[in-house]
Amino acid sequence: MNLLEECKGAERIGISGHIRPDGDCIGSCMGLYLYLKKELPQTQIRVFLEKPAEIYRCLSGIEDVDSTYGEQKKFDVFFALDAAADRLGEAQAYFEAAGKRINIDHHISNARGCGDVNYVDPQASSTSELVYRLTAGRPLDGEIAKALYLGMVHDTGCFQYSCTGPETLRAAAELISYGFDFSRLIEETFYEKTYLQTQILGRALLESIRFMDGRCVVSVLSRKTLDFYGVGPQDLEGIVSQLRSIKGVECAIFLYETRGQEYKVSLRSTQKVDVAAIASYFGGGGHARAAGCTMLGTAYDVINNLSLHIERQLDGEEKPKTGSALAGGDDEERRAECI
Ligand code: 5GP
Ligand code: MN
Repeated sequence: MNLLEECKGAERIGISGHIRPDGDCIGSCMGLYLYLKKELPQTQIRVFLEKPAEIYRCLSGIEDVDSTYGEQKKFDVFFALDAAADRLGEAQAYFEAAGKRINIDHHISNARGCGDVNYVDPQASSTSELVYRLTAGRPLDGEIAKALYLGMVHDTGCFQYSCTGPETLRAAAELISYGFDFSRLIEETFYEKTYLQTQILGRALLESIRFMDGRCVVSVLSRKTLDFYGVGPQDLEGIVSQLRSIKGVECAIFLYETRGQEYKVSLRSTQKVDVAAIASYFGGGGHARAAGCTMLGTAYDVINNLSLHIERQLDGEEKPKTGSALAGGDDEERRAECI
């Protein structure tokens, strides 16, 4: 795909990413936004995202992000980044109505893409890496490079997770050559936590439970606990990765209650479990080693249902197949519904 060719003649371009935007979602959207603004100065370019967390204030142009979704006029081109259309939240309507819909993503659960033009590579570390690839041959600047680098750092766990490849590191090398303070960027957006975030992490770790001979670990935060500490979803990032780091753990589960008997589920695995297959079965998606979904029921129901699938994979009873393959299977064990 040739980015600038696809945007040729467009007067209004829109960009958005998934609900509860994470580092890669924000980095790729802002990188693309800044890049298109630079390359197409005559074109009106808008970027829509749910309110980005404070840590992302360091990105240039972040104040232009529209979280009110008040726009009425149709877009000539609309980009869905790091997600399929059904995870764009309020921006989904802009995407669906656009003259041309472009989807750039790296989720295996969205392997086919959902646009008129699709650039989906499940092997890529991040959507930011894909945006970087699409800018090939054109000069960037320090602000574009910083946004894309941030996205790559967040989705690769600072270039540690198995999704990191030679191409990722080559891209990172090119990006830092634009001369931003990458060390500070990593410290301030990836490692640094507020005191509250540290407290809730501690609470989640303290109350975690290991099962399946220590191969699985789960932690649950109820609405009541979240309200007590006064924390929101943006304060919970990193908890599930910490659970996965426990020695002997093959699969980590982290749940937090979004409302009565509704849980946002995060799954992480080390080597064996394909968590994208499990999340897809329950109506969510993601990657083989990091995935998520939303489930209804008591925490006990949710954990029981998830652990059945994990156990089957660990015992080799179930050949993991990401996507729809598991859907429509034996539903009897499903006491919690998926949405
Ligand atoms: P997290 O656990 O950090 O929320 O998400 C891990 C990965 O799974 C991310 O790539 C995220 O985009 C994806 N993911 C999380 N929740 C959902 C969901 O409900 N649906 C889909 N399709 N993907 C999800
Ligand atoms: Mn991503």
